[in-house]
Amino acid sequence: MTENTYQPETLAVRAGGVQSQFHEHSEAMFLTSSFTFDSAAQAAARFIGEEPGNIYARFTNPTVTMFEERLAALEGAEQCVATASGMSAILACCMGLLKSGDHIVASRSLFGASINLFNNYFRKFGVETTYVSATDVSEWTAAVHPETKLFFLETPSNPLTEISDISAIAALAKQHNVLLAVDNCFCTPILQRPLELGADIVIHSATKYIDGQGRVLGGAVLGSKKLMEPVYGFLRTAGPTMSAFNAWVFLKGLETLKIRMDAHCANALAVAQWLEAQPNVARVFYPGLPSHPQHALAMKQQKSGGGIVSFEVKGGREAAWRVIDNARMVSITANLGDTKTTLTHPATTTHARITPEARAAAGITEGLLRIAVGLEAVGDIQADLARGL
Ligand SMILES: *Cc1c(COP(=O)(O)O)cnc(C)c1O
Repeated sequence: MTENTYQPETLAVRAGGVQSQFHEHSEAMFLTSSFTFDSAAQAAARFIGEEPGNIYARFTNPTVTMFEERLAALEGAEQCVATASGMSAILACCMGLLKSGDHIVASRSLFGASINLFNNYFRKFGVETTYVSATDVSEWTAAVHPETKLFFLETPSNPLTEISDISAIAALAKQHNVLLAVDNCFCTPILQRPLELGADIVIHSATKYIDGQGRVLGGAVLGSKKLMEPVYGFLRTAGPTMSAFNAWVFLKGLETLKIRMDAHCANALAVAQWLEAQPNVARVFYPGLPSHPQHALAMKQQKSGGGIVSFEVKGGREAAWRVIDNARMVSITANLGDTKTTLTHPATTTHARITPEARAAAGITEGLLRIAVGLEAVGDIQADLARGL
């Protein structure tokens, strides 16, 4: 396929697919850890990289390669490196591109495990991280010093759906010769393509919307061939590689990503508008609502508001827990990006281990709830929330 001539929904179904000698219509799952050679000379040529081809599944596997090519086409990236999870994508990205003494500037509003990885592990190896506001670019400018090698952000953020201005932060990164990595897990390439906005690297937890049905773990790092070479080098050596089975699940997930994202976004907007009208809801955080402080930026940068809505109920923790405990249908879990709607209380789950002061500074109040809106009928989701409100 000449991929740049096709629309995203076509790429999601067709890009990267290869047929074996059996002419299967659906992509095959190659459950094999190693591959054979026609001769000693061919084995030698493969091992020194003179001849392309598979050797061992820690390096490459045809099903994983199909997934990588499909996601690369959707993100408009030269290369994709698939990983065992979203966290191993962040690990591989940093292990490949950073060294001791380097410095990261990261958004304060990151996925909790990303912050733990930077603070508890990278720091041990001499890589320090400075945290700054997701939304105030001047804080990024002030945090840059000569050792800064990487900017890292996530937009919209979890759970407050703050929007970082990718173009502005990318321009700043270029000016200082720093790489910008964007965790695009919440939007997927269907809603937002960070590379087009000037980012150098895109990170995914494929576990979320790319699977979309809560089955398997996986991740990806995308960018230029030059940047992905050391990332792939780390992966092939250290081994947090995506399995063929998971790659096959994600390939099938990508085929329905566009229609699922459209439905998640439509349901989320309807739930957000309805929540805004509820007397016991103090505030709703959703980039698709005009009341969102960065609504204009969100609508410029993203195709729509996404599937995650947060809202603050009046009455603090007791009132928030009442909403959760009165739900009969929506799942009480911190996972997101699933066909099933999920509901969580960030202050006592995802953000429970940070200090109350840090929580307050991050705007995560006791009355805050986060809903990852699924594909059930929107009236059923609203009725389930109404019970506890
Ligand atoms: C879940 C998540 C991750 C981590 O992905 P795993 O697949 O669970 O390792 C990273 N970033 C964001 C934004 C996430 O939501």
